Amino acid sequence: MSKIGSKHTPSARKAMLLGSGELGKEVVIELQRMGVEVVAADRYADAPAQQVADKALVFNMLDPEALRENIVREKPDHVIPEVEAIATPELVKLEQEGYHITPTANAALLTMNREGIRRLAAEELGLTTSPYRFASGYDEFCEAVKAVGIPCVVKPVMSSSGHGQSVVKTEEDIPKAWQIAQEGGRAGAGRVIVEGFVNFDYEITLLTVRSVSGTAFCEPIGHIQVDGDYRQSWQPQPMSEAAIEAARDMARKITDALGGYGIFGVELFVKGDQVIFSEVSPRPHDTGMVTMISQDLSEFALHARALLGLPVPSIRFYGPSASRAIVVEGDTREIEMDNLDKVLEEPGVQMRIFGKPEIKGHRRMGVILATADTVEEARDKAERAYAKLAVKVK
Ligand code: AMP
Repeated sequence: MSKIGSKHTPSARKAMLLGSGELGKEVVIELQRMGVEVVAADRYADAPAQQVADKALVFNMLDPEALRENIVREKPDHVIPEVEAIATPELVKLEQEGYHITPTANAALLTMNREGIRRLAAEELGLTTSPYRFASGYDEFCEAVKAVGIPCVVKPVMSSSGHGQSVVKTEEDIPKAWQIAQEGGRAGAGRVIVEGFVNFDYEITLLTVRSVSGTAFCEPIGHIQVDGDYRQSWQPQPMSEAAIEAARDMARKITDALGGYGIFGVELFVKGDQVIFSEVSPRPHDTGMVTMISQDLSEFALHARALLGLPVPSIRFYGPSASRAIVVEGDTREIEMDNLDKVLEEPGVQMRIFGKPEIKGHRRMGVILATADTVEEARDKAERAYAKLAVKVK
């Protein structure tokens, strides 16, 4: 597939995004740049990616019938999952019927649930992970904590962005951790993973792209998480030769096992030269937003190129860069980002405002990007710009 015809004609290339958040928005922009006809779906209207797509669809992507009905009606050449909360077993069936799922339906299925990807990584591929146990009920959970040991991290098997996640530091934390996980899971109460707490030196996202040109790696991205949600990322994260080699080896193994074409965010913990696999997203990664300023082809451009079946012969890295997430708290449909003349006054600073229509609780509403001569300077510059931002919640 190396041709793209006019939109709305038989030779058009049509893509359907399942999930229309800020990462999807950038993927849509990249697809639009290539003249692809894009349909963007989400569970609510006016989501960021829908604002730049040719057509928006609103339906419950966890409902297999609604998912099938919409895909079969639209007949996209590419189905692109952008979130984890999708009826992925239905995607597996649709793939068997001839639809192209990015990168593969099995990758979406396995990564929707922490259990699928953890068992593949640790038990089938033999990658080093933290020690872990799964539990479905409270008694089993207490046994799992005992087996893994304290401190440990508890997460619902279906969750992201830190929802339902907590650290058990003492025995008193055990009942609370169970309760937090039961309330924070994507599919409501249910199964949890108990992971040994990894006392890492730093953690990275290794963006790995699989395309017709083979596998390529971006410079490693370091990041800081608060309550399991990313706040700051930078590129490149300095690493020892041994650590970067081990990281690339792991990333290659896990992405080869998932297969298909597209970008993958491989999350790894690093301690000295030792690399510990955490998880992988078969799609652009939030910490990878830094590549909008650091590379000639951002993670979104790479995803679009790869999934369209086009070559990625090289990735040009421009130099030290950082990103700072703008997380806003409130309960409103009206916010104002103010003081932007000051935010953008230094050279080498950019900003994206996602255009999300509503906030309930915490929500990532934008990102600040910065480049400089060193990673430290880029991080400082992004933080300085962020400090000048005045977000007014009405
Ligand atoms: P996750 O949703 O699994 O990506 O976890 C979010 C963040 O929580 C990670 O990026 C780490 O900063 C932290 N975290 C998760 N699992 C562990 C672990 N086993 N040990 C230490 N920190 C962890």
